[in-house]
Amino acid sequence: MSVNSGFSDIDVQQVRQDFPILKEKIYDKPLVYLDNAATSQKPQVVIEAISRYYLRENSNVHRGVHLLSQQATEEYENARIKMQRFINASDSKEIIFVRGATEAINLVASSYGGKCVGEGDEIVISAMEHHSNIVPWQILCEEKGAKLRIIPMNDRGELLLEEYEKLLNSKTRLVAVVHVSNSLGTINPVEKIIELAHQNNTPVLLDGAQAAPHIKLDVQELDCDFYAISSHKVYGPTGIGVLYGKAELLESMPPYQAGGDMISSVTFEETLYNALPFKFEAGTPNIAGVIGLGAAIEYVNCIGLDRIAARESKLLAYASEKISVIPGLKPIGTAREKAGVLAFVMDGIHAHDIGTILDQEGIAIRTGHHCSQPVMDYFDVPATARASFSFYNTREEADILVRGLQKVQEVFS
Ligand code: PMP
Repeated sequence: MSVNSGFSDIDVQQVRQDFPILKEKIYDKPLVYLDNAATSQKPQVVIEAISRYYLRENSNVHRGVHLLSQQATEEYENARIKMQRFINASDSKEIIFVRGATEAINLVASSYGGKCVGEGDEIVISAMEHHSNIVPWQILCEEKGAKLRIIPMNDRGELLLEEYEKLLNSKTRLVAVVHVSNSLGTINPVEKIIELAHQNNTPVLLDGAQAAPHIKLDVQELDCDFYAISSHKVYGPTGIGVLYGKAELLESMPPYQAGGDMISSVTFEETLYNALPFKFEAGTPNIAGVIGLGAAIEYVNCIGLDRIAARESKLLAYASEKISVIPGLKPIGTAREKAGVLAFVMDGIHAHDIGTILDQEGIAIRTGHHCSQPVMDYFDVPATARASFSFYNTREEADILVRGLQKVQEVFS
């Protein structure tokens, strides 16, 4: 495994060895994987941690007196501590394991929203949200007679903070905003967003699904109230994620799901709930997923998020410049602060055709609305093509993408 050596550049050929799938051939061509915003590839250490659990430790957690169960519980709880340190939460009880960023947001909408949002109240989200940070709030608003307010953006894909400020008022119960946009790559000014919300006594949820793989997080410094993380975007397995919440907020919220593990005692007359974080982890959790996520965090720590961010931003700048010379190609999302996403449309060519032709060259990108249909509506396009970069991508791969796009043009000219 590659080890962080201070602030030196990442040795990309060495880190690529850590990811077995990067050696795969697609139609006999080397895989060029540029769909990292959809899901990142998994290093060998993550794959091994999951298989070691099933091979040698498989057992349920928090329940058994036998050794296997104790080992599994220890690994599971160690992963919680790794995550606590990864985002600098003040206590490991503030780390709730959930199914993914989607479930983290649904948990807050259901539990916090169910308790604290009433008729006439308002929830503020932004114009660039992923559907998972729109629909739960829509459902909540419909149930409660509350209103969804939208922070608008400009043509670069940057939020208009002066408009945001005007949306905040005594009825605002929550601000829920994406940290890094999956469809545009915009890194939002979340510090300012949180500061303004807190001046209004409103808590803030950040959808960090796309931020956690690129930005070193410190939830205490950010002072966000909730933070949603997706394991599979941060080199961990699918089906697992994290909700960070400030302890005093989580303590005040009712359980999200009910069943085993989330109780401290049950009689037919009354149930007393378990302490945090278990109050929000009903049933047998995704133990292998949590252990795999723990291994992923260790791996990312070894590479170093500072070096990851530096490499990805160089790659993005290189690829952005290279594709800018392709006639008829229009980038969608040109914010001044961006993470590794390069979304674009091409004159007279549907995004799906771009994706299909690139696929034949072994290049994996994502095409469609990226679960952000309001963003497509804003830019008045049905879909975009999106290349998204990770630290294991190379300049050569960016060049192959550009050659692939030239081929797309030839096919359609
Ligand atoms: N928010 C954003 C910005 C995302 O990109 C995604 C995943 N595409 C999600 C939320 C949902 O994350 P998960 O797959 O972990 O549910």
